[in-house]
Amino acid sequence: MIGVTVLGSTGSIGVSTLDVIARHPDVYKVVALTANRDVARMFEQCQMFNPRYAVMVDEQAAELLVAQLKNSDSETQVLAGMAGLITVATLPEAECVMAAIVGAAGLLPTLAAAEAGKRILLANKEALVLSGNIFMDTVQKHGALLLPVDSEHNAIFQCLPHDYAGDITQAGICQILLTASGGPFRTRALEELVDVTPAEACAHPNWEMGRKISVDSATMMNKGLEVIEARWLFNLEPQQIQVVIHPQSVVHSMVEYVDGSVLAQLGSPDMRTPIASALAWPKRIDAGVQRLNLFKVAHLDFSEPDFNRFPCLRLAYEALAEGGTATATLNAANEVAVEAFLNGELRFTAIADVVRKTLNNISSVKAECIDTVLDADREARLYARHLIHQAG
Ligand code: NAD
Ligand code: MG
Repeated sequence: MIGVTVLGSTGSIGVSTLDVIARHPDVYKVVALTANRDVARMFEQCQMFNPRYAVMVDEQAAELLVAQLKNSDSETQVLAGMAGLITVATLPEAECVMAAIVGAAGLLPTLAAAEAGKRILLANKEALVLSGNIFMDTVQKHGALLLPVDSEHNAIFQCLPHDYAGDITQAGICQILLTASGGPFRTRALEELVDVTPAEACAHPNWEMGRKISVDSATMMNKGLEVIEARWLFNLEPQQIQVVIHPQSVVHSMVEYVDGSVLAQLGSPDMRTPIASALAWPKRIDAGVQRLNLFKVAHLDFSEPDFNRFPCLRLAYEALAEGGTATATLNAANEVAVEAFLNGELRFTAIADVVRKTLNNISSVKAECIDTVLDADREARLYARHLIHQAG
């Protein structure tokens, strides 16, 4: 049996991961589950998967869960806080760790899993955006295996040569084509964007996801974060990554080779495919996903991204070009701005303004160690909050 820890089990990716695992009870055993504060869903998941540990980051939520589990004669041990997350990310009986916490909060437990040499299924792209070089060095130094779950990166991984060792020239590749749906506002009149509501921004045409990544998809900051993620996962230069708008979300990304071959991975837009692919790699397992019906899809469209409509995408390329802690600053300012937008404190179009002003105000430094990155993250959050309160 392969032991699995699911970090962020109550979220969209966490739930899809447990759905895939539940289809293969003879192969996978859930060792630990974690959540921020959703006790009701965590209780349900504990009843169903009987993990050895359940972590609630919020202390009060942890106490509530202890009380509920006691009443149900469960043997699951409850842990709390960041210390609990790190404990379960490094358990000897969990060979595999799904990193599906949203945002910078996922960085330290995912890094701990890398230090413990785990097989890491990475959904938490923000971890790489914050600390790309440090994270990749840690993976290498401790012999961890990093498998991308983000659908585009999983597609690229599947289209790369099996022995790809981080040198795209040697592998005969000219560029990576990173597809993007364009989100719910791809064709909305530009002057209407200022008034869009959180509900509209979260209504993604093809994917059902957590609220933060849904807003990121609407601003296309998600694609910007993914460009940065691809840069680190596959050791690419920013100009080797071409974003392609593809509204159907059927081609999940492509790799173009020097002989003119373009390899693509296609599938229904369902995260259980990349999750199952990473979980079982190099094998294949059933993911419960509807088979792709090409006759129903009928046509596939592609176009160039519009940086005017999606300024966040440009900001991400700029932060990547600047390097060092600039991408941590970008990510932190974006997290704060998205939260403010979701709480009704900030207009949709002001998300990019907050990110731009924060990047302009805070100078980047070399990302030498994790503390440097965490300092940059903190400073950017403070500044972004200050900007939002000043405007409000
Ligand atoms: P979500 O909001 O649905 O779930 C987030 C999970 O993280 C929950 O279990 C929540 O309890 C936990 N969490 C939230 N804040 C936390 C904190 N401060 N400390 C510890 N845990 C915390 O998010 P999601 O859509 O499942 O996305 C998770 C990650 O996967 C994100 O990084 C996202 O970019 C990435 N991703 C998601 C999708 C998707 O389809 N949902 C696709 C690709 C990548
Ligand atoms: Mg993606």
